[in-house]
Amino acid sequence: MGSVQLGDGKRIMARLTHGADLIDEIIAVAKEHHIELAQCWAIGAVKRARLAYYDQDGQAYWEFALDRHLEIVSLIGNVSLRDGQPAVHAHASFADEEGRMYGGHIAAGCEIFACELLLVEYSGEILEREHDGVTGLPLWQKLG
Ligand code: ZN
Repeated sequence: MGSVQLGDGKRIMARLTHGADLIDEIIAVAKEHHIELAQCWAIGAVKRARLAYYDQDGQAYWEFALDRHLEIVSLIGNVSLRDGQPAVHAHASFADEEGRMYGGHIAAGCEIFACELLLVEYSGEILEREHDGVTGLPLWQKLG
């Protein structure tokens, strides 16, 4: 376990670009506002989604595509540094026209139809992701 206490920063609300990649757009908003550490939330819709599930035994992500129009019921995640650049880690739940839910780790390839994003920046320590030998994941390192 490791933790840090953080202070308040900027609050950014953004309308993301139709047709753009969801992760790329969140990173672009963070960069535009010079944000290196933040929490993010979003709602909206995608033309198609690409999600991932982490296989803990194999220590690898299994990606799957949902090539259909879906509502973004809830996206929650964070922005922190990876290789010195803002990176997004987010999970989301999506619903189809009958309310059936799909969910997982957001991968590259989620094409935005419309999306409203809230970024809440935190000040203080900068968290940087590095490879974790136990889980195989890029986790925050150097926490107190
Ligand atoms: Zn994840």
